[in-house]
Amino acid sequence: MQRDATGFLKTEYMDLVNKNFDWRLRVLQGPSTPHCKVDGKDVIMLCSNNYLNLSNHPKLVEASMKALKTHGAGSGSVRPIAGNMDLHIELEKKIAKFKRTEAALYYQTGFAANAGLIPQLVGEGDLLLTDELNHGSIIDGVRLTKAERAIYPHCNMEKLDEALKNADKYRRILIISDGVFSMDGDTAPMDQIVKIAEKYGAMTWVDDAHGEGVLGGGRGIGKHFNVEGKITVEMGTFSKAFGVVGGLVAGSNDLRNFAINKSRTWLLSGSAPPATAAACMAALDVVEHEPEHNKNLWDNTNYFKKALKQMGFDVGNSTTPITPAMCGESAKAQALSVGLFEDGIFAFPIVFPMVARDKSRIRTMMNAGLTKEDCDKALAAFEKHGKKLKII
Ligand code: PMP
Repeated sequence: MQRDATGFLKTEYMDLVNKNFDWRLRVLQGPSTPHCKVDGKDVIMLCSNNYLNLSNHPKLVEASMKALKTHGAGSGSVRPIAGNMDLHIELEKKIAKFKRTEAALYYQTGFAANAGLIPQLVGEGDLLLTDELNHGSIIDGVRLTKAERAIYPHCNMEKLDEALKNADKYRRILIISDGVFSMDGDTAPMDQIVKIAEKYGAMTWVDDAHGEGVLGGGRGIGKHFNVEGKITVEMGTFSKAFGVVGGLVAGSNDLRNFAINKSRTWLLSGSAPPATAAACMAALDVVEHEPEHNKNLWDNTNYFKKALKQMGFDVGNSTTPITPAMCGESAKAQALSVGLFEDGIFAFPIVFPMVARDKSRIRTMMNAGLTKEDCDKALAAFEKHGKKLKII
């Protein structure tokens, strides 16, 4: 047989292109700031995760540069061998203090935390319950477990409780949920999830990627629902509101010791550059000591969300700075995004297969550094193109 070893690369790619499902990468020229340059055009940024506008904050930049000078560009190894720097340890102490937990562990990314630790907490003879709209990195972590898995309908606490009624046979149980759901901007009822978990002796895992720096005055979903210290694993990331990169897991000392010894993504992948760890520490300091960024973020969010709704846009169940503007079919969301970009607004379309075919949308993500005038400019463009495309 004459096998075509690599032909699938082109045919599968072209299939995506023909369906308009391929990723066409935009290029950010310069820092990620509320006003930035994308593909040569000056735009207002409405789709970055840089909620608090910290990625180019002078204190973060200065901390990175200082660590670069004192510790160099790379860590030289994985953490358990020779890449465990004093800056990593210092950062973990700061994370634990910030999260009000006994201990914390810093991962290379949030994805690595989900993929590396979920499959260690539950295995054969265990049960894992996961919300149907959980993030892809949770889905991949779940795929790596040998535990029995059950997907419960989105935020449906009755179904979650029901699934646990006959769970005596399992050794351990883990309930996993996003804190803020990244496509819709709604939140999981963490107080109820914790209550249900306590009733059945289950562990809880929350992915607070979009809640840290945002909810609970910046402390995250635990604070927001008044369940700090009651969630088994608070997982998060520095790649969003904190403006840097890197995953985090906060919880008990036992959890940290367990993860250090079992979590394969943490054990087998090189540790973060020192400048990154230093910038993460500076970000925690800024979130703690400069509450104005969180306040601006929410002022902008409330202003923008209310105006979009008044214009006639369906913004779904969003209660956070992630505000979707529903468009229906994919072509409308794509056309709206093109129109917005022409008018200097960078807002990304989310279409099938990321969401259901009839649920395509422009997902806006608010930024603390935008002014009311910026918001008004963006709103005017939404109104103009929304009407033109008969979305509103
Ligand atoms: N969880 C959620 C809910 C996310 O949105 C993301 C980032 N897209 C991640 C995890 C992964 O985080 P990181 O960027 O640190 O890998």
